[in-house]
Amino acid sequence: MSARRAPVLIFGAVFVAAAVLAALGYLSLRRWEVAAELQLREQARDTAAMAAEKVTMALGRAEQDGIAALQAAALTPDFGPAVVEGWKTRHPLFDGVYVFDRQGRMLYPVVSTGDEARLVAALRAEISQGFWERGGRRHLEVDGHVILAAVVPGAGGAPLLVALRRDERALRRDVLEQALGGAEGKGALAVLDGQGRAVFASHPVDAAAPVSTVPLGDALPAWRVALYQPAGLSPRDMVRRQAAIFMGAFVLLVAVIAAGLVATYRLVRRESEIARLKSDFVANVSHDLKTPLSLIRLFSETLEMDRVPDPERRREYYAVLTRESERLSRLIDNVLDFSRIESGRQRYEMTPGPVEPLIQEVLESFRHPLQQEGFTVEVSIAPDLPDVVMDDDAVKQALANLLDNAMKYSAERRHITVTARREDDGVAVEVTDEGIGVPVGERERIFEKFYRVGRSETQGRRGSGVGLALVKHIAEAHGGRVSVDARAGGGSRFTLHLPGGPACRAS
Ligand code: ADP
Repeated sequence: MSARRAPVLIFGAVFVAAAVLAALGYLSLRRWEVAAELQLREQARDTAAMAAEKVTMALGRAEQDGIAALQAAALTPDFGPAVVEGWKTRHPLFDGVYVFDRQGRMLYPVVSTGDEARLVAALRAEISQGFWERGGRRHLEVDGHVILAAVVPGAGGAPLLVALRRDERALRRDVLEQALGGAEGKGALAVLDGQGRAVFASHPVDAAAPVSTVPLGDALPAWRVALYQPAGLSPRDMVRRQAAIFMGAFVLLVAVIAAGLVATYRLVRRESEIARLKSDFVANVSHDLKTPLSLIRLFSETLEMDRVPDPERRREYYAVLTRESERLSRLIDNVLDFSRIESGRQRYEMTPGPVEPLIQEVLESFRHPLQQEGFTVEVSIAPDLPDVVMDDDAVKQALANLLDNAMKYSAERRHITVTARREDDGVAVEVTDEGIGVPVGERERIFEKFYRVGRSETQGRRGSGVGLALVKHIAEAHGGRVSVDARAGGGSRFTLHLPGGPACRAS
């Protein structure tokens, strides 16, 4: 596996793992949602069932009390309409009382109200012989009312049939309210009649649909207890909210993992790019050092052997020696300064002074190679240049690098312009060539350490990719900057901006 593919594969594997994790998380969240909703519904059902139980028990107790009292009264010798009236006032839960003897005669009410005909018919149909003999109680439904029918022993030993009709208002007040009125919690409990109307509600239920309903049994047939939850608290809403929180946290987690991976991936890529550039740098520097050294050696050996009788040629050879040793020391300076900058040990000695002599000095040191390589140089230095606080050697080194590049990256048109002009309180020095130029997309990157424009452009041109990084560092150490733009008609223009400072104005 190649070194470049390994990280891609590792990151791919981690991405796949994260994606599988996300999918599994999503599935289990969905499953949890269903289970949690079911559980909440179950809880609601239990609450409603308990409430139904309470209502049934309270109603059973009230009916039991009523029947027991009526039975006790029926056993008294003076049992008659007056006694039943008295019972009625003590048991307001029942608004209708009917008493029949074994022969089916109605003993109470004494005067027929006319609306008991259907009741009597229902009783005849429902109350069997066995019921008379066994006694007991049962509920019948007549005209939408629930009638409690019971056979109780009479005073003379003859059984009596009593039929009791409940008063709905009293039922609500004495039974439902008592049983459910104190219900705590956020939900509302309601008792719904056969038509689904709320006969009673512990809290207002608005138009909400019940979460759970439980039938109330034959004491209140077709009636149900319903549990309502306030808006936003229904099991579905609660589960959805919870699921949204889980989902949000999960998405955040996956996003953080993904962002971490991307950041690490980029870091690793950058590191391996720097490692590659560094190894290129070592190869380039070694090559750069070799070229002037071999020239120096060749020419000095030739001179040493006295093989050059012509003084003119000899002078030329000496000039080559000087030029190549200057180039060599520039190169070594660059590498040393660069390494000092990298380790944070580079110091500059700032003193105020004029820029022009430095420009002239650099041009002078390049005079010979420029001439030899057929360059024409145009120099234009404004007369009103202010002094600048600077490290002379550093500024000279920056200019030398710019000039060296201008020569290196020139092709057929060998013309270089050096200008210096005032810029605010400072000085801008421009080195313009008519060479290969810098592609727009590379104008930022060329100032990065070890960076060299695509191989085809720089191929064949010596270089190590630290020159411009050094120029940038020097410019910034002086509070200035270096910029590059295209020269109209081809080539590039590098500008070193050196700002003036308070120290210069004072001097
Ligand atoms: P190098 O040792 O490669 O010249 P530099 O840091 O001096 O390193 O320059 C970085 C890159 O910027 C060079 O490799 C080259 O591609 C580009 N460059 C620098 N100066 C010029 C110029 N005057 N014209 C065109 N390209 C240039």
